[in-house]
Order: sequence, then C-alpha cells, then structure tokens
Amino acid sequence: MEEAKICPVCGGKVTAKNRKYCSPKCSKEGYRRRQAKYSIEKYHKDKRIKEDGKPKEERPIEALARKAREAGMSYGQYVALEYAKIRRG
Ligand SMILES: [Zn+2]
Repeated sequence: MEEAKICPVCGGKVTAKNRKYCSPKCSKEGYRRRQAKYSIEKYHKDKRIKEDGKPKEERPIEALARKAREAGMSYGQYVALEYAKIRRG
C-alpha cells in the first residue's frame, strides 16, 4: 500500500512519487512560503540582535548574561559570584 501524501499548499492528494506537492504550481507556492517563513524568522532574529542591550525588553537571564559580559566573565562565573554574594549577604 502506498502512503497517500497531502499537498501542504492546497491540501490535495499528492499522486506523484517523491513529490511533496500535488502540482508544479503548488510546489512553487510551497517554496515561496518557505522562503517567506525563513525571511520572517531571519527578520525577527536580526531584530532581536539589534535590540540586544536595550534594558527595556531585556529578560532577567539576558540581563545577567549582559552583566557577565560587561564584567568580562562567563555567564556561569557571574551567576556563581552573585550566588556567593547572596550567601554571604
Ligand atoms: Zn496542491
């Protein structure tokens, strides 16, 4: 029994073997969507990198990582130091 594949673009049955899409048209559309998705992900990634260092949207873990970098330490070293401070507190 052959496994019936479903076209991710139109939801139609893919009859051709070794094909992901039911038709060249859907293949093209699928490719376009993949590219669009990739672009969006890349955009957000770049945006995050650009926004890195802004305290406004910084998460606590990111703040710690940044402080560690600024202190010339690794994240682990910095956290260990912070814990040591708290313990001595
Ligand atoms: Zn299709």
